[in-house]
Order: sequence, then C-alpha cells, then structure tokens
Amino acid sequence: MPPSLPPSSPRSDVRLATSRRTAMLLTAVLIVLLCVSLIALDIGHTSEARELRLTQAEKVLTNFTRSLAQHAEDKIKEADTYLAQLVERLEAEGMGDVHAERLHPLLMDSVRDMPQLHGLFVYDETGRWIVNSQPVLLTQYNNSDRDYFIHHRDEPSGRVLIGPPIRSRSTGDWIITVSRRVDQSDGRFGGVALATMAMAHFNEHYKGYDLGTSGTISLLLTDGTLLARHPFVEDAMGISLAAQSLYRDHVLTGNRGVLREAGEKGERLVAFRHLERYPLAVVVTQSREEVLAGWIGEARRRTLGVVLLSIALAGTGFFVLRLMAQRLRAEDELRDARDALHDANVRLQRLATEDGLTGLANRRAFDERLAAEISRARRERTPLSLLLVDVDHFKPYNDLYGHLAGDDCLRDVAELMRQVATQRGGDFAARYGGEEFAVLLAGTTTDGAIRVGERLREKVASARLEHEGSPSGRLTLSIGVADLHIEDAEDDADDLVRRADQALYQAKNGGRDRVIVHGASSG
Ligand code: GH3
Ligand code: MG
Ligand code: MG
Repeated sequence: MPPSLPPSSPRSDVRLATSRRTAMLLTAVLIVLLCVSLIALDIGHTSEARELRLTQAEKVLTNFTRSLAQHAEDKIKEADTYLAQLVERLEAEGMGDVHAERLHPLLMDSVRDMPQLHGLFVYDETGRWIVNSQPVLLTQYNNSDRDYFIHHRDEPSGRVLIGPPIRSRSTGDWIITVSRRVDQSDGRFGGVALATMAMAHFNEHYKGYDLGTSGTISLLLTDGTLLARHPFVEDAMGISLAAQSLYRDHVLTGNRGVLREAGEKGERLVAFRHLERYPLAVVVTQSREEVLAGWIGEARRRTLGVVLLSIALAGTGFFVLRLMAQRLRAEDELRDARDALHDANVRLQRLATEDGLTGLANRRAFDERLAAEISRARRERTPLSLLLVDVDHFKPYNDLYGHLAGDDCLRDVAELMRQVATQRGGDFAARYGGEEFAVLLAGTTTDGAIRVGERLREKVASARLEHEGSPSGRLTLSIGVADLHIEDAEDDADDLVRRADQALYQAKNGGRDRVIVHGASSG
C-alpha cells in the first residue's frame, strides 16, 4: 500500500491562509505607514526649518534696524549738539558783523569735521543770511519763506526742528534741515541757526549693506515723510508714506516692531524703529524669497532624498511582499498537491479493498482480515466463526430478470447483510465472489454464528424479494457455518473456509434456505 501523507485539515488551512494574508496586509500597511511618516516628518522638519530661518532673519533685521537707528540718532545728535552750542554763543555774543566774521572759519571747519553736515547757516530775524559755512559769504539771499524759519519765528519753545528733505538753494543737493531758534537778549525772535544734513551721507552709509536685490532701508520723519532711501529713488524723496497701510498701521503708530507684509513683489520682512530723541524712524525690508533662498535649496535636496528613500523602502517592501506571495502560492500549490495525493491514495486503498458493486470488503481484504483474525484468535485464545453465504438459484434470477437486476439484487442482499451481520466491532462482512458472501465473527462460537446466520436468512426471507425462478417464489440464502479449531495448531484459513464451504454445500443439498454448521447432519 502506498504511504499516505496526512491531509491538512481545511479549518487549519483557512486559519493559516487568513493569518498569512493578515501578516502580508500588516506588512503592506507598515510599509505605507513608514513611507508616509517619513514624508510627514520631512514636511514637519522642512516647515520648522523655514520658520526658524524667518525668525532668525527677523532677529537679524531687528538688530540691524536698531544699529541704523542708532547711527541716525548719533549723526543728528552730533549736528544738533553743535547747533545748540552755536545758538548759545549767538545768544550770548549777539549777531553783529564782527561776530559773524569770527564765526565763519569756525563753521567751515566744523562742516569739514562732520561728514553728515552739508552746511551750517545763521539767519537774522528777517531771514537774511548772516553767516554760513560756505567759503564765500553770500548775503543777497533771504530764507524767511522757509517753513522752519516761519516755525521758529512763531514758536518760542526753542526746540529743535527737523524738516522734510529739500534741495539746497546753494548746491542743489538733497538735504534735511535741523534748526533751532535764536532769541534776542529780551526774549524776542532773533533768528534761526540751521544745520543741513546731506542725505547723500545716509545713502552712502546704507549703500554699504547687502539686503539682497529687493531689500530697502528708509529713513523717515514720524509724520511719514521720506528722508533717505536705499536704493535711492529721486522721485520718492520728501513724499509722504503716511497713507500706506504699513506706515499708517505699524511704522508710524508703533515705536519698534517686526512683521511680515504681503507686498506687490511677494511677502517681505519689515523691521522698524523710532529714534529715541528725534521724530524719525528707520525701516528695513527684506524679501522673504531671498531670506528663504538657502532654505529652499536645502529643503529641495532633503525632500528629494526622502522621496528617493521612500521609493526605495516601498520598492524593497513590495518586492519582499511579492516574494512572500509567491512563496505562499507555492505552499498552497504544494498543499493542494499533497491533499490530491492523499485523496488518490484513499481512493486507491478503497479500490484495493472494497467491492465495487456492493461496497462491502472485497476478497483480498477478506483474506487479509481472515489471516489477522486467526492470529489474534490464537493469541488471545478466543473463538472465531465464519459464515459462507450463497444466494439460492441466482443463475435463474439473472436469466429471468436480467444481469442488471441481478446486480441490484446483490446490492440489496449486501445491505441486509450490513444491517444484520456487522452489529459488533469484531464482525466483518465481505463479498467472497459472484453471489457468495462471507461473514467473519471474531469472539463468536458456532452457536452465536448460527444465530447471526439465522437472523440474516430470516431478514432476507422476510424482505420478500420476488424470485419467480425459485420454488418458493422469493429470494433465499443458504449459509454454511464453521469455526476455527483453536486446539489444532495446524488448522488454518483454508481449513476454516473449506469447512464452511462444506457446510454450505450441505445447506444446498439439504434444500437451500437454511443455515448448516459444519459437522452437523443436514436436515
Ligand atoms: P445455487 O442455488 O446452487 O447456488 O444455484 P445458483 O444458480 O445460484 O448457482 P450458480 O453457481 O450456478 O450460479 C451463480 C450465478 O451467479 C452465475 C452468475 O451468472 C451469477 N453471478 C455471479 N456473479 C454475479 C454478479 O456480479 N452479478 C450478477 N448479476 N450475477 C452474478
Ligand atoms: Mg454460488
Ligand atoms: Mg447460488
């Protein structure tokens, strides 16, 4: 008999397949999760780095603005201090011609010493030029129409006034005016001392800083009037920025600050700061795009790296999954093949041991079982009986009803035999050949065997299977009974079968439809 692999149980197969499918699904989900979190981490990191850049740029811009405001403050304060001293001297010494002549070289020296100064001027109460820092003293001009002059004439407080940028009457340069009132000894208006500051000085200073292609530095009065600007824009000098929302809402109302503003050329960072002593403010802007230029390159490189890494990870993962799937398929095929082999073996085994017509054991199985039962009976010293069963007048049955009906009849007899003669575990029924059957009854003496034989005979008789070819008109069985002679060690299977056959022969001779035990006289 071919060796047979144990079949895999369908339930454990389903469980295995399900857990494998789950494992593969989990692996796929894990890979996707890994890739997604890698990309999410990168996005998070990139936007953090971006924000950090902007915050750092804001800090740098704030510090830069503070230092520019300090510069402007220092330069104006220097001029203003000088002006205050000049006013004090004028008020003490008066504005006569002698004093004016003494002052002239002094003012010329001072303008040379302070590069931010464009000029120094003294006007009397009518606006006439008294003395100034120019090499040749021109006295034909009158400045009584200037705003600062009118302001000081009408405002006795003596506070410094910083004016909007104007073009110098003497040189045509852009200047801003820093002016103070000069009082006469009785407190009446005595004139104006004026320092003009060259915007070129501030523009020159601002030029030295690199704020990218679209960064700007502006110096303005806190009423919104633009004083200096880098890059320089001639048309913008002196215009008011007060109406622009950046200035209206932030620069002119706050003391200092930093903000991000959506401008025409994209977002920009803006930092501003008012001077402490003077009504001026410095505003610095830088394009966000230029601030982030380095970050964009870096972010692109890293994102490309992360994307490539994710692709590699996903590729490897799905390659492994495919291998897993292939392996699982191969295992499934192997299992199917094993199951098919097992089924084939079972079928073969049945074919080898089962009678095709009746489903009872066949002759070969009977011979094997008989040998085994004889050994066991001898070993355990238990009785063993054999019934040989033959259908009476079966040839006429075939002749009368046809061979197929004969087959059906044999199947019916086999079924009745299964019901009556295989009640216990030790009972074994087989088709011996043709219309002959055999029943092995382990642990059963001839008395018991006769009882089984009678029950079988009566069962068939009472089934009233029609048989016109039989004298009784119905189907009957003749049964021969014999037992194993345990005491006789020589007694074997052939002897047992032979004795049962002899008993059967006697049953036939005795008139059929009966059970005869070997050794008893027929009757
Ligand atoms: P007896 O009462 O003496 O046993 O007479 P019988 O006709 O039964 O005995 P015989 O041995 O002369 O005939 C047996 C018949 O059984 C012959 C054969 O055609 C028939 N037979 C044997 N095997 C099969 C089978 O598988 N199917 C069918 N339909 N008939 C079978
Ligand atoms: Mg026969
Ligand atoms: Mg017969």
